[in-house]
Amino acid sequence: MNFLRCDCAVIGAGAAGLCAGARAAKGGLTTFVIDRESHPGGVLLQCIHNGFGLHYFKEQLTGPEYAQKSAKMAEEAGAKLLLETFVMEIREEEKQEKTLVLYSGKDGVTLLRAKTVILAMGCRERCRGNLGIPGDRVAGIYTAGAAQKLLNMEGILPGKTAVIAGSGDIGLIMARRLSWCGVKVKLVTEIMPYPAGLSRNIAQCLEDFHIPLRLSTALTGIHGKDRVEYVTIAPLAEGKPDLSREEKISCDTVLFSVGLVPENELSKACKVKLHPVTNGPVADSNCMTNVPGIFACGNVLHVHDLVDFVSLEAERAADHCIEYVTRLRKGEEPVPSGGRHAVVPAGELRYVLPCSCGEGEEVCFSMRSSSVRKKALLRIACGGKVLAEKSLRYVKPAEMISFTLPAEKTASLPEGAELMVTLLPQEENGKEK
Ligand SMILES: Cc1cc2nc3c(=O)[nH]c(=O)nc-3n(C[C@H](O)[C@H](O)[C@H](O)COP(=O)(O)OP(=O)(O)OC[C@H]3O[C@@H](n4cnc5c(N)ncnc54)[C@H](O)[C@@H]3O)c2cc1C
Repeated sequence: MNFLRCDCAVIGAGAAGLCAGARAAKGGLTTFVIDRESHPGGVLLQCIHNGFGLHYFKEQLTGPEYAQKSAKMAEEAGAKLLLETFVMEIREEEKQEKTLVLYSGKDGVTLLRAKTVILAMGCRERCRGNLGIPGDRVAGIYTAGAAQKLLNMEGILPGKTAVIAGSGDIGLIMARRLSWCGVKVKLVTEIMPYPAGLSRNIAQCLEDFHIPLRLSTALTGIHGKDRVEYVTIAPLAEGKPDLSREEKISCDTVLFSVGLVPENELSKACKVKLHPVTNGPVADSNCMTNVPGIFACGNVLHVHDLVDFVSLEAERAADHCIEYVTRLRKGEEPVPSGGRHAVVPAGELRYVLPCSCGEGEEVCFSMRSSSVRKKALLRIACGGKVLAEKSLRYVKPAEMISFTLPAEKTASLPEGAELMVTLLPQEENGKEK
């Protein structure tokens, strides 16, 4: 067994882990970034299209280019990458240290003692089993991300004619990618009355390729002998598939693009409290979970649409790790005592993060709407006083809303009062509905 020690252990070398690792190392922390894969970059490595990095690197990059730049930043800052290394467990044996149990084929088991841990394990895709789609257990059924990896990294075409269930971004990007490779994408079905993916992906990946999107439509079955031969779909009537209008669509491949779930096994096992809507950790405005010294960022915290926001959130997590370790080094309590305010979503918000904030802190809110609106008003209030308002255009569940509340706004809030973040629908003339 090997033993290592560090100030900051980052789990996952995707965009979140690499940017957090770079920032922590630059801030003077001895830092390890650990990933089970042989190359750093996470999901970015299979996203060979461009559209990444405009905010963070101020240039248009492909996924692998973004990954390469982030890995270079981490290594140049002095973070050590431990690749092909799986984090199996996080133990809290001592008050101010966590022990990570690592396994790699090369080194066997290593115990890594860390003052702080940043969870950056990303997320995984929901699949047919999560939806309980009936039919035959045949070849030709993939999650959109698995098909993307197969095609972009292994050079293998998943099939010749495809139906995509769910209009999440990965499915939309795969509709375009498959079309480029000569695969006939017959249609994309979406159970909701609105698309699940970004508007730009609907335009660039479906409309430009004349691929129909059937909204309010369910995939009711997958059929075939050895391989998929056809699927059945039906429009929804009063929330249920109307089987009297069921249609058969022949195809040899079905891709599922029906949402992502944070990789939360490690989080759960080390008693990190999970958020009932995001399924990621409950975190405060410092990206710290309920376990002092364990921080979270990126898709493991909540699913992001844009990698740039993942990197920015990762930097915030690392900044607070640095503060935590600095206080420990000075012999102070690592988490300053002082009033905190619960942050609660209201109106048409599905969720808002962070779940709490402290006095005089700048707070970067991330949230998602529960409905589609052409106009909406975002309001942040505390104890009946409005702290900030912003008019928004075209809010939809698919697009994350970000808003930063300056530190002076949280400077003198009534003790123990909740910070209420509300999304209100608005008429075209700007009045609340
Ligand atoms: C198909 C697709 C298309 C996208 N398109 C765009 C786009 O056009 N523009 C844009 O800005 N964004 C896009 N995104 C979003 C963006 O790429 C992601 O949000 C971001 O890359 C996620 O980074 P992450 O570090 O949180 O997670 P990941 O990249 O998933 O990284 C997590 C890492 O953790 C590792 N890991 C997990 N558990 C363990 C463990 N126990 N031990 C060791 N390692 C572990 C994994 O191996 C992985 O490498 C896209 C995403 C996808 C999936």
